[in-house]
Amino acid sequence: MPKKSLADVPASALTAGLTVVRFDLNAPLDDGQVSDDTRLRAVVPTLETLRDAGARSVLLSHLGRPEGRAVAELSLRPVAERLSELTAAPVTFVPAVSGPEVERAAREVGPGEALLLENTRFLPGETANDPELAASWASLGSVYVNDAFGAAHRAHASTEGVARAVRADGGVAVAGPLMERELRFLGRVMTEPERPFVAVLGGAKISGKIDVVEALLERVDRLVIGGAMANTFFLALGLETGGSLVEDDRVELARELLERAGDRLMLPIDVRVADALTESATVREVERSRVGSDDVIGDIGPMSLGMFAEVLAGARTVVWNGPMGVFEMKNFAAGTVELAEHVAQATSAGALTVVGGGDSAAAVREAGVYDRISHVSTGGGASLEFLAGERLPGVEALSDSED
Ligand code: ADP
Ligand code: MG
Repeated sequence: MPKKSLADVPASALTAGLTVVRFDLNAPLDDGQVSDDTRLRAVVPTLETLRDAGARSVLLSHLGRPEGRAVAELSLRPVAERLSELTAAPVTFVPAVSGPEVERAAREVGPGEALLLENTRFLPGETANDPELAASWASLGSVYVNDAFGAAHRAHASTEGVARAVRADGGVAVAGPLMERELRFLGRVMTEPERPFVAVLGGAKISGKIDVVEALLERVDRLVIGGAMANTFFLALGLETGGSLVEDDRVELARELLERAGDRLMLPIDVRVADALTESATVREVERSRVGSDDVIGDIGPMSLGMFAEVLAGARTVVWNGPMGVFEMKNFAAGTVELAEHVAQATSAGALTVVGGGDSAAAVREAGVYDRISHVSTGGGASLEFLAGERLPGVEALSDSED
């Protein structure tokens, strides 16, 4: 069911009372300073839209995992300071999550201004989705905007609970622009992919991504598997994997998937190996049947890349999650970086390309092709759950378009 978005909210509703906005401001901090402001930059257009509309905004976000208590190092204060610099408009901060201090500060918010509350996870009610905590935020205003796709797979008070509470009070709960874009692109991939539809999966483990592998297998024309994930499939084929990262308890699953997928599933035919996964290790390219008992697989090989590139060149829809190798190390980065280039080329050739996963997004950025991908999802876990066909509670709780 399509959800209402910020654009559906009449201007009069934005100026009538406070607008409660959930962002994902979970930026890494180093020594009390924001060390990577990518997530903060991402919300600037939304903040500016709200400001230009004259909205009086109260902002919610989590930061890290304080586990229900106040942890000074995980305060959102430095985030408010950085946001103020990025938006050239003050984002004021109140060191409270809920209660009289918040209510007092909220009353002071003027038209076009924004107030950031303290880390929602400082209270145990956040992850417990406590209705009272949700109601305390809902009582602030009658418009709720969720622009935190990365937190949408969690039924927390600031995502699911507050949306339901606002609606129960007769208000409206809508998707912000970032959330709306995520749902539009991921939705297209899941419901009406142009064919051929190719998925590329990689990364460290099958175990965390079984649901995605299974769900995509049903939908795609080709499922390409690389990264350490491929190693467990190699074991299922009876191949030597030496000291590579494998999941012994998933070999049977890999065997089953191979059987079910037939020739829709493609594995690397060659790999890059070394005697250890270190920056200084000397790398050899070998066919997958030539991996020795002392070898460690760190990347896919050039022949595999050529094969994957050919599949990507013919694709109309591409989903990529998970690096092809240990791309953090220069000597094992080629497979991932070159694959990123081929995904970018597929985009230029007219394919819809979607990249999900934190490490994959970083790899795309490193490869310098970020702007040549149709959509790079910022929600790691949330995009995986979406691609696995699961419903996201933070999205489900929003007002339906027809309401
Ligand atoms: P994403 O964050 O994009 O979902 P994952 O977290 O699943 O991706 O996997 C990324 C990690 O997988 C990277 O840290 C990378 O080093 C690791 N990886 C990929 N291939 C291998 C390999 N052959 N051996 C060990 N680790 C690997
Ligand atoms: Mg990761």
